[in-house]
Amino acid sequence: MQMSGIKAIVIGAGIGGLAVARALALRGAQVTVLEQAEAIEEAGAGLQISPNGTAVLRALGLERGLLSGGAVPARAVALHNQAGREVLRLDLGQVRAQGYYFVHRADLIDLLAQGARDAGVRIRLLQQVDRVHPGTRPEVVMASGAVMNADLVIGADGLHSRLRPVLNGTDRPFFTNQVAWRAVIPAWGDAAPVARVDMGARRHMVSYPLRDGRARNIVAVQERREWTAEGWHHRDDPDALRAAFADFGPQVRDMLAQVEAVNLWGLFRHPVAQVWQQGQCALLGDAAHPTLPFLAQGACMALEDAWVMADALSGAGDVAEGLHAYQERREPRVRRTIAAANGNAWKYHLRPGPLRMAAHAALRLGGRLAPGAMVRQFDWLYEHDVTQAG
Ligand SMILES: Cc1cc2nc3c(=O)[nH]c(=O)nc-3n(C[C@H](O)[C@H](O)[C@H](O)COP(=O)(O)OP(=O)(O)OC[C@H]3O[C@@H](n4cnc5c(N)ncnc54)[C@H](O)[C@@H]3O)c2cc1C
Repeated sequence: MQMSGIKAIVIGAGIGGLAVARALALRGAQVTVLEQAEAIEEAGAGLQISPNGTAVLRALGLERGLLSGGAVPARAVALHNQAGREVLRLDLGQVRAQGYYFVHRADLIDLLAQGARDAGVRIRLLQQVDRVHPGTRPEVVMASGAVMNADLVIGADGLHSRLRPVLNGTDRPFFTNQVAWRAVIPAWGDAAPVARVDMGARRHMVSYPLRDGRARNIVAVQERREWTAEGWHHRDDPDALRAAFADFGPQVRDMLAQVEAVNLWGLFRHPVAQVWQQGQCALLGDAAHPTLPFLAQGACMALEDAWVMADALSGAGDVAEGLHAYQERREPRVRRTIAAANGNAWKYHLRPGPLRMAAHAALRLGGRLAPGAMVRQFDWLYEHDVTQAG
């Protein structure tokens, strides 16, 4: 399909929205991104971008910008028990696909926003979408009452998407009985490009260097019975985070002592949407398939969606056919990835006792006997390159 005549509206200037905006604009579409926030800025947090996500950034011509922004090329993952003793080290050099990075989320958003603008995308801030009327020429109704229409409307508006219920009916996100604190601290330790996972009963903490080692990202997860706060994340007191991990080893306590500001997320989940597209409208990223962060793939899946949607549209006879092909190409892989992430949490959160001892012993043994196999169990995930697949 000739993209140059297509007028597209993307709801949401997150990772998925900005990536699809650039991908479509590079193919000639006229793209407007509507973002509710007053600025494209991000709370301090890091992201792991694995080679499957990097493949999309590379194809969009943005990988070099990632490195000049201070992304850290990741080398290994080290698992520690609660006392701080190393259980296993996985060498990411064994991943055959290239480009595993630790990235500051703000740097990635800046890169994508600039990339979108350079491709001719119009990004409009303070534009909250209230609802979408699908149809042959869908309408986007703003909270201000203004109405816009387009040939293609993409809901890249995250967990609380306005388009998702239009296509799927209302299904409220459910609390997964886990919360995550995210914080960025100044450089810690030797800034080796290693993600460190400290595991304890009902809790684990992941940390890794950012910005050429000048900062360190922390994601600390705890099981909880309920989430009482309004909204899905808020500022928290760093002492609450320190108290939750007070019985961990000295390295964890040392890192947490440096936390000056922290955000707390209730981890909510929707099932993967049944309907991702209808006519001229489609969902992308968390709007279609939010995931728990235990495989670090939410942003990577949004990037993959973005590429495949643009590719499917340009290979189709019309928008509806292209969006249908997009869902067909994406859904099996996304479901598999999300199931793998859901299955991961318990492995980190084992209570003290025989099961934990056995699990850690098995990890140690596996790491000694077949270190490559431990990493290559994720080949299906990391080596898949949506920019090469048809
Ligand atoms: C603790 C934690 C750690 C994570 N770590 C990783 C990781 O290491 N690697 C990884 O790949 N992923 C990770 N993720 C997941 C990742 O952050 C998300 O999957 C990703 O940001 C989804 O991108 P998105 O563009 O779909 O949605 P979002 O980033 O949620 O963006 C949606 C955008 O839409 C805007 N918007 C919403 N509603 C409206 C409206 N009505 N009108 C206009 N604009 C609107 C929002 O303001 C926002 O800018 C993590 C998530 C969490 C919670």
